[in-house]
Amino acid sequence: MRPDKLTPLFADSANLKGVGPRVAKLLENLCGSRIVDLIFHLPTSAIDRYNAPDLNEAISGTIVTLTITIVKHRPAPSKKAPYRIDCQSDQGFLSLVFFHAPRDWLNKNYPEGGTRVISGKLEAFRDGWQISHPDYVVTEDNVWQIPKIEPVYPLTGGLSLKQLLRFISESVKRAPALEEWIDSSLLQKQEWPSWQKAVQAAHKPESPADATPLSSARQRLGYDELLAGQLALSLVRTRQNKRPGRVIKTDNVLEDKIRALLPFHLTASQELSLHEIKTDMASPQRMMRMLQGDVGSGKTVIALLTMLHAVEIGSQAAIMAPTEILARQHLEGMEDLGASIGVKVLLLTGRDKGKARKEKLAAIADGSAQIIIGTHALFQESVEFKDLAVVVIDEQHRFGVHQRLALSAKGDGLDMLVMTATPIPRTLTMTVYGDLDCSRITEKPPGRLPVTTITKPLTQLGEIAEAVIRAVEKGSKVYWVCPLVTDSEKIDLAAAENRHNTLVKAFENYGMAGKVGLVHGKMKGAEKDAAMESFISGDVDVLVATTVIEVGVNVPAATVMVIEHAERFGLAQLHQLRGRIGRGSGQSTCILLYQGPLGEVSRSRIAIMRETEDGFRIAEEDLKLRGGGEVLGTKQSGLPEFKVVDVAAHTKLLQVAHDDARLLLELDPGLTSPRGQAARTLLYLFEKDTAIRYLEG
Ligand code: ADP
Ligand code: MG
Repeated sequence: MRPDKLTPLFADSANLKGVGPRVAKLLENLCGSRIVDLIFHLPTSAIDRYNAPDLNEAISGTIVTLTITIVKHRPAPSKKAPYRIDCQSDQGFLSLVFFHAPRDWLNKNYPEGGTRVISGKLEAFRDGWQISHPDYVVTEDNVWQIPKIEPVYPLTGGLSLKQLLRFISESVKRAPALEEWIDSSLLQKQEWPSWQKAVQAAHKPESPADATPLSSARQRLGYDELLAGQLALSLVRTRQNKRPGRVIKTDNVLEDKIRALLPFHLTASQELSLHEIKTDMASPQRMMRMLQGDVGSGKTVIALLTMLHAVEIGSQAAIMAPTEILARQHLEGMEDLGASIGVKVLLLTGRDKGKARKEKLAAIADGSAQIIIGTHALFQESVEFKDLAVVVIDEQHRFGVHQRLALSAKGDGLDMLVMTATPIPRTLTMTVYGDLDCSRITEKPPGRLPVTTITKPLTQLGEIAEAVIRAVEKGSKVYWVCPLVTDSEKIDLAAAENRHNTLVKAFENYGMAGKVGLVHGKMKGAEKDAAMESFISGDVDVLVATTVIEVGVNVPAATVMVIEHAERFGLAQLHQLRGRIGRGSGQSTCILLYQGPLGEVSRSRIAIMRETEDGFRIAEEDLKLRGGGEVLGTKQSGLPEFKVVDVAAHTKLLQVAHDDARLLLELDPGLTSPRGQAARTLLYLFEKDTAIRYLEG
């Protein structure tokens, strides 16, 4: 149960004064619908209103606060022209500019001959200065009404900063004093405030520096979130360790048979990874290992070999893929190999219905199916294994922790291998995977040619389309990726459909009908598979796709990829996409089409894409560039999403949080001591409720 003290924080922001249904909706989109969401909606910067420069030396665009005498009103000479008020201050002359301001209001606030203090953005105009619509105008007695330092928040259309400030300040008032969960010596050493004080300070910066993630308050809040994350991961992990694993140790009979059948030798890091996996399986502890390797680095064969060891001791193994297409691809890769060594491989997906499904379930239950490939359908309770010993989860970040756990309940002391093609920067592995053991495949299989990456402005789309036609004539298969850009899937889909249409027409003009296909996320499973299938082995040579192709699909003949609006993708995602080509022995080209002008961050991203194909390097760079503008697909990138942690500014605290969480749980595994209790509150505060359930039993 969530502690009572936290109840006010999880109340709906709709019960704040001034929040009606319309504003509630805006707040929900902006940061979330509860008080706690407003509390964790932190300033991005702060306006300094101490600035009162001499106007001879002022800089246009800065915020200034000036005492002025109102000289003369100059009403607008025409409808389109503004209303001007000439003013004089000790620092020089300036005029105030208003559009559509009621005359009465202007006269009242800016009486001719009166003195006022105003604050607003100073702009150069002709050879003088102006401020349009000052943020503040007060009499000299009321100067205190102008905040000297004013926090700036991310906003949303329809909501003013003033409104948001009011709601946040109301919310902050409801932040209770909480028992301290941070180790007292750490707290002293860092000179961090209490949680309540930190919340207050984060929203009331006293200098612009206070509004950055490096401020003491923000570091504390960031640390809280990191600690909560580490505690949660540790709890899950400890719980899993408690249940003993089983010893899976074989004479490598099946492994050797498969090796003899493979047309290649394993790379050095594949060998090392497999060795690490086998060592884990042979130990009586449960395996909890992650296999990281770039797209195309050859994780699948490692998965197969891993599973065969379970089969060899007479048990079953399952591999779970995030999509139907991928599950099918695994089936294709494994079914024949399995058959040739007498191992029965079976695919179970949500699409198996009726009698066929019954038969498959029976084969899983009686053990005649030895390797089971599946999608989410494998979680379902009706699926009973005879004796499941090993589970491999492919592209793991698509699955949540609780799904992973649901699966682990399917077998006793199950060994688990999770595979991901998202290289996670070393510094962050811990946040995402806690203490998960990690194997890395660092090189690509031999014989692959590097992908040539070029960039072109979107305005050259026509030429690119023609180049694509020529490439197809020479036998290439081409991916054409359209990004998801709006909130509206309809509009996104329309963009992809449009591109599909133009390309279909362009190809028809060259007498090549039926060469262009389309695949997108709104398609039903069977439709999607059919579209992929005709690209893999049919007539379709150009596949227009939204980002559904991102995950794992292997089409070695694809050698060209066009990515439209490359500037809208994050680095990790661009890298994932590009990994779809360069999988065969042919020379591949990736064309990044961008819409200019490019911001600094997009420019750097694209430059890095041209510079390297090393996923681990790209992941590090991605991390550095994150926060620098809206990035699509952050969710898919596999990086954790934080509320208050600033990944770049708070990385150093991660190790501390990690060690602290571990120590706390070692001393107080049930979190029952006073500090343990406080830590429970922390877990609830960051909604790690699932982790708390592991404490309860
Ligand atoms: P991913 O890591 O993205 O899942 P895959 O397992 O799909 O990569 O491997 C991509 C391709 O590389 C497959 O066609 C696979 O057969 C091949 N492959 C895997 N390992 C090797 C190797 N050591 N040498 C040559 N080819 C390999
Ligand atoms: Mg794969």
